[in-house]
Amino acid sequence: MREKIQKIRENFELEFRQFQEIDFLRLSLSDAEGLMRNLQEFKAKHTGKKSEIAEAKKLIKEIPPEERAEFGRSVQEAERQMLSLIQEAEKRLKDFIAETKIRRETLDVTIPGFRWRTGHLHPITILRQKIEDIFVSMGYAVEDDREIENDYYNFDALNIPEGHPAREAQDTFYTTKGLALRSQTSTVQIRAMERRGVPIRIIAPGKVFRNDTPDPTHVPMFHQVEGLCVDKGISMAHLKGTVAEWLRRLFGKETKIRMRPSYFPFTEPSAEFDCSCFKCSGTGIFQDEKCRPCKGTGWIELGGCGMVHPNVLKNCGVNPEIYSGFAFGFGLERMCAMLYSIDDIRLMFENDIRFLRQFR
Ligand SMILES: [Zn+2]
Repeated sequence: MREKIQKIRENFELEFRQFQEIDFLRLSLSDAEGLMRNLQEFKAKHTGKKSEIAEAKKLIKEIPPEERAEFGRSVQEAERQMLSLIQEAEKRLKDFIAETKIRRETLDVTIPGFRWRTGHLHPITILRQKIEDIFVSMGYAVEDDREIENDYYNFDALNIPEGHPAREAQDTFYTTKGLALRSQTSTVQIRAMERRGVPIRIIAPGKVFRNDTPDPTHVPMFHQVEGLCVDKGISMAHLKGTVAEWLRRLFGKETKIRMRPSYFPFTEPSAEFDCSCFKCSGTGIFQDEKCRPCKGTGWIELGGCGMVHPNVLKNCGVNPEIYSGFAFGFGLERMCAMLYSIDDIRLMFENDIRFLRQFR
């Protein structure tokens, strides 16, 4: 009889192990609830009416009287111990489930909030929008057009006939015969003049393409802004005044400009325009050292300009005897690189979030 009770205890302990070896640190709420259900089944199986211990209790009255008392005690003792172990396991699981639920439902207002990462404009876009705002306030319209152009609009209409050396300098990417990625936004000027006629005042910001190998100062795709003003009696003085005004609005009231003679096929006369350095105010020295954006010269080269060539006006059906106009153009990347002291313009197109985040 003693062996029988021993056996019952052994079976109980073997199965009960799963409730003793619970890793509460890794236990999920649903697993805990599952274990609780198992424990109730286990309790019914080992201590219920049909359990082995219940069977053993029924045998007490069949035991000879001299052994009955001792057997009865050991059966009761075994039952008591089993129930107490089950109750302990029940309590541990119950506490765990209750605590986990409370933790889930409590709102701790002292925990630092989660910051959503929002996007922001690219530095090139920021600069482009600033420039657009300035020109719109000066009465200019913002024009945009196709990036794939034919030879006529990219070259011929701009007074760059086939065989002209300027075509070589603006080598771009040709798609099918006669079509190429535009090498300058001047194409927009031609199309706008054809469509709107004159007088006209527009700027054309947009992407242009050159067959260049990327290096710190060259990329095969970059952004230009071109301006065009055609009306009766427009002179070089209007050009100079316009360039000086928008640069003052962008870089500050003290900004000075200068023009140097140059050559472009689509303007005559042509010039390059520089502005006084916004960092050293034209002195060439910044914080007792040679100023970096202007390389110590006090001037920053920005772009090209000039009076629209009579041939270009004729190509657009405008009579150069009545109308005259000026045009100018510059690159956004170079200007952006100088404004933000960026050494390598390729950084602007690598989409490295660590770089772009600085311009938030
Ligand atoms: Zn400087």
